[in-house]
Amino acid sequence: MADQKKCQYDVIVVGAGMVGAAFTGLLARANPQLKIALIEAQQSYGYKTEVFDPRVAALTEKSRSLLECCGVWGQISEKRVSAYMAMDVWDAEGTGRIQFDCQDVHQANLGHIVENSLVIDSLLNKIQTLGNVEFLCPVTVATYSRSEQQVTLELADGRELSAPVLVAADGANSTIRQQFGFPTREWDYGHSAIVTTVQAEYSNQQTAWQRFMPTGPLALLPLNKAGDRHYCSLVWSQESDEAERLMALDDVAFCRELGFASEHCVGQIVATDKRFSIPLRQRHATDYVVERVVLLGDSAHTIHPLAGQGVNLGFGDVAALVDTLSAAVERGNDLGSLLTLNKYQRQRKPENLAMMAAMEGFKRLFVADNLAIRLLRNMGLSQVDKFKPVKNEIIKQVMGL
Ligand SMILES: Cc1cc2nc3c(=O)[nH]c(=O)nc-3n(C[C@H](O)[C@H](O)[C@H](O)COP(=O)(O)OP(=O)(O)OC[C@H]3O[C@@H](n4cnc5c(N)ncnc54)[C@H](O)[C@@H]3O)c2cc1C
Repeated sequence: MADQKKCQYDVIVVGAGMVGAAFTGLLARANPQLKIALIEAQQSYGYKTEVFDPRVAALTEKSRSLLECCGVWGQISEKRVSAYMAMDVWDAEGTGRIQFDCQDVHQANLGHIVENSLVIDSLLNKIQTLGNVEFLCPVTVATYSRSEQQVTLELADGRELSAPVLVAADGANSTIRQQFGFPTREWDYGHSAIVTTVQAEYSNQQTAWQRFMPTGPLALLPLNKAGDRHYCSLVWSQESDEAERLMALDDVAFCRELGFASEHCVGQIVATDKRFSIPLRQRHATDYVVERVVLLGDSAHTIHPLAGQGVNLGFGDVAALVDTLSAAVERGNDLGSLLTLNKYQRQRKPENLAMMAAMEGFKRLFVADNLAIRLLRNMGLSQVDKFKPVKNEIIKQVMGL
């Protein structure tokens, strides 16, 4: 009886968000000989097409193609995605404006807006068709312990799981990061993001709109409801007091304020779904790996949503860790040794840090009240807008090309 409660795996993944689910699917497909456990605490109630998920992500082409490699892009795009063709970014405090168009870089689009729950559902459906993954959900982990060769997890129901490597994809507030004492650098922005879906008077023109205000950026991302393009996903970052005030408004007053704040780029805002307020913190683990444990996605790094890059960086981690572990499998190396895991860290840390630093600089630039900075900011945006080679380089970076 005791033995039935003990299970040995090659890899244990904790967290079936977009990152953990994509990692598990990709690793399992690339290495059918591996036995993998995927553990998730929350029961999913499934994706529903009647309403938009308030949590969406703007995916780069690289991320889209990773989902294709996971075998789920077809299913996602059949249900609902919204390709965006243009971006319009402007400064609320002046005349600076920059516009990007996919035609400038000879691409069919700049990226896709997807609903998080649709991505997760599609990945989990696919995973459950794979013979080498055991999906344990809903399950809570009671204890974690580590020996020289193994990590062992004791579940709340008494089961015991061991593997040579534990992958933490348990999100921004990662328990595993804390349990294994990963040092992190983190700071509170003093900002919260209000997220919801709104209906607009005019078509969203398949454009991602972003207006920078001293109190934070406001983004309206284009959604597509069976060809009806009057819907946008809102991500409105605000100082926490202001976010609280906006959350307390009734829908009519909120829509009116949002219309003014967005300078009516999509006309009046005619309706809003339920609003959610998410506190924003930037966080970066000093190391992503210790012997036998590795951090992936938001458990390793969280970034301000103005970048629209969080899960794109997470999917970059996924590709790198799948490559690292697959190479170790092929060579017969220990999957959880520091020697193996350090290759992943060396590949990912510079890229993630560079993106986080760029976004921090961008955020500071736009909240600056200093007149000289405001002038430079306005001139800079408009000059870059006129200078095609630089602008095209930026578009390619945004697209992850
Ligand atoms: C407002 C907003 C807008 C954003 N927009 C974009 C965007 O446009 N583009 C973009 O690329 N990114 C965007 N992001 C970032 C993106 O949402 C995150 O980077 C991404 O969701 C992180 O995925 P993850 O799988 O790493 O973590 P999570 O989504 O947090 O998943 C973690 C999973 O682990 C589970 N879990 C946690 N603890 C345990 C445990 N102890 N045991 C078992 N399971 C556990 C949780 O239930 C959850 O399912 C945005 C973020 C915000 C806040």
